[in-house]
Amino acid sequence: MVLFFCCITLKNFKSSKLNQKPYIIELPKNHSQMSYKKRKKKYPNMLVNIALPVPLYKTFDYKVHKDSLLPAVGCRVQVPFGRQTLIGLVIAYTQLEDCQIPSNKLKTITQIIDKNPIVDKNWLKLASWLATYYHYPLGDVIGVMLPTFIREGKPINVASPHWRILPEVLAAYLKEDTIPSQISARAYKQLEHYQNLCVFGEDGIDETQLSKHKLTKSYLQKLAEKQVAERFLQTPVQPKQAKMIESPLHLNNEQSLAIQAICDAKNKAGYQGFLLNGVTGSGKTEVYLQAMLPILANNQQVLILVPEIGLTPQTYARFANRFEANILLLHSGLNNSERLAGWQHCRDGQAQIIIGTRSTLLYPFKNLGLIIVDEAHDTSYKQQDTLRYHAANIALYRGLQHNIPVVLGTATPSLEHIKLVQDGKLTELALSKRAGKAKPPELYLVNACNKNTTYIQQPDGHAIDSRLTNDVVKTMRKHLQAGEQVLVFINRRGYAPILLCNACGWQADCPRCDSHLTVHQSQLNTQQPSYLKCHHCDWQAYMPTTCPTCASHNLDAVGMGTTRLTENLHALFANPQISKQIYPIIQIDRDTTRRKHSWQKIYQTINTGKPAILVGTQMIAKGHHFPNVTLVVMPTADRGFLSADFRSPERTAQLIMQVAGRAGRDQKTGKVLIQTLQPDNPLLLNLVKNGYQPFAQSLLNERQLLGLPPYTFAALIRCEAKNYQQTLAVLNEAKSLLPAHHQLAILGPVAATMKKKNNRYQSQLLLLSKNRQQLHTVLNHWWLTVKNLPVAKYIKLTLDIDPIAW
Ligand SMILES: [Zn+2]
Ligand SMILES: [Zn+2]
Repeated sequence: MVLFFCCITLKNFKSSKLNQKPYIIELPKNHSQMSYKKRKKKYPNMLVNIALPVPLYKTFDYKVHKDSLLPAVGCRVQVPFGRQTLIGLVIAYTQLEDCQIPSNKLKTITQIIDKNPIVDKNWLKLASWLATYYHYPLGDVIGVMLPTFIREGKPINVASPHWRILPEVLAAYLKEDTIPSQISARAYKQLEHYQNLCVFGEDGIDETQLSKHKLTKSYLQKLAEKQVAERFLQTPVQPKQAKMIESPLHLNNEQSLAIQAICDAKNKAGYQGFLLNGVTGSGKTEVYLQAMLPILANNQQVLILVPEIGLTPQTYARFANRFEANILLLHSGLNNSERLAGWQHCRDGQAQIIIGTRSTLLYPFKNLGLIIVDEAHDTSYKQQDTLRYHAANIALYRGLQHNIPVVLGTATPSLEHIKLVQDGKLTELALSKRAGKAKPPELYLVNACNKNTTYIQQPDGHAIDSRLTNDVVKTMRKHLQAGEQVLVFINRRGYAPILLCNACGWQADCPRCDSHLTVHQSQLNTQQPSYLKCHHCDWQAYMPTTCPTCASHNLDAVGMGTTRLTENLHALFANPQISKQIYPIIQIDRDTTRRKHSWQKIYQTINTGKPAILVGTQMIAKGHHFPNVTLVVMPTADRGFLSADFRSPERTAQLIMQVAGRAGRDQKTGKVLIQTLQPDNPLLLNLVKNGYQPFAQSLLNERQLLGLPPYTFAALIRCEAKNYQQTLAVLNEAKSLLPAHHQLAILGPVAATMKKKNNRYQSQLLLLSKNRQQLHTVLNHWWLTVKNLPVAKYIKLTLDIDPIAW
């Protein structure tokens, strides 16, 4: 993964197809101010080379109007392109004699949007590297990297709109706490806005931050009409130096060593990649916080990447409690103007601590001093469409580019990162003990064959299998009676994954995908109608009452999702007819947390610490700290060890360890019960007995033997069309175009793991090589040839470098 820094970045940067022409011609620093006359004299035949948002593997030369200035590299311009008008970014200058288009065919730039470059050369270099490494058109790479408003050519305001109470009104308020007579006593909302806005004093509040502080523009406008408040343009001022406002926690020896190593790297080498390998609850965040301190004191920015939006409010609180600083949260829930403001604050240095999801890594930064990738093993760091980049890779590239340390933190490192440590490309910082007095959780396997499970008596006399063993139910009761919380993990939402006809064997399948429909129903909430839903394309239908094939009424929901598990737990732990003590059961999955703030509400309930059962999907596996959870139960977590996907054991083990890590994070020792139908499965035994590290090493040995990543480098070509045979034909043709003696291992073309999805068929061709450079050399020529095939114009053909699933 880091190998490419030496071979592709540096050596191949110049020779790649994107850089065939003289790329950036050095011009005097004041060239943007130079008049056309002067420029013409000095550079008589200068053209501007522009990256445009078109799926073509090239950039385009344009002339500059004779009365216009030469736009600087990094400025946006508007140009004619075919019948359209496009906005592009100047990336270089070209001499007329180097241009292959005849001079009279060259078109002229219609508008220069920016006077000054909107991005710096480091950022352009990153764009160029992404285009080269991921074999993706430069114009499209830039399109992915820039916020919507910038792509659309909206002006970048150096000054940003703010709101404040008019100075004289504010003075009166500060003196006597008065309410202006213009606001009627019954206008509660205006009153509330007035009081809330007063808090921000004479500096006022940035318009993009209004919603965060429960302020609405329409009410502020009313206050402005009444001469109480005003909207004004504020030129950004550089923030005050960040200050520590909460004393740091006491560190153990391993934590101190880790912080020392990061600070030393910063002071000496500049760039160094670290794998902060810390067991769950070992205090990784405290290491981040203390390693950040000298960086912030040096007036540099710190970027913290987090996998998902669910994590950000919690993470935000940790950083905001420790530092008085401008902390910027960037996640997918922002609107376009908030995103543009965030982008500018990173670029201009107003943001001191930036917490963001993967795309934040593509932003320009004024003065970046440290990059932290939290939960670095998480698969959400890999973008799964358009530019298929991996944020952990780019973090390392940017660290090298800015010459600063990069910390990849995780309790369950990916095999790729473990191998980078073994190859000497990452330095491992181990945190093997839990912070404070917390002890590591104890893991146990429980044989879940159905003679051990608890049955629930139904009013009609028959009994249903709860799929929880007697031992598990007994232990749960013990922990609840002791006033503690229990977490039950199941990685499947809905009621049941399959609807089956017992008479003829029919199963409810999605008409658009190769997949079963999930049963969604609820006996607890009878108002909710039962329905079937495809979790891949969202197709939905009402639940049939009879089998569509044989008309039998004997339909059965097979398997268990969060809703069914919650119902079973209700019957066992919250049924007043069978037990005196009733415990709340909280279901946490995408269906129950979809509404705004619902997750925060659930979180508050859990944090009261009262005995309760939490039922959740992998949403609860990551990073959360529930101090009173002392028991974790996994009814079906071992299923991943049976999957055909070679990455499944790694992912399953990571998930098991992450979920197990929620147990006993405070004083009381946590217990983890893993139910399995295969108590002798060697993989599972290895994980439970020896822990994640030896388990991961045994997987690595296996991968090496089989010649799979991370011991080989992969490129996956996917073809998608309405006709399956056509996808195979296209990939076969592509395969035949591979150069002779390419020395790659080729697998396929074959159907993708999910052959049909949303009415389209997918097949794939996999290229594997022991040598990354060799793979990319082949791809450089071959992929362009494939994309230029006539059929490629109307068929979706994509290339995935370092794919994480196939
Ligand atoms: Zn049937
Ligand atoms: Zn579907």
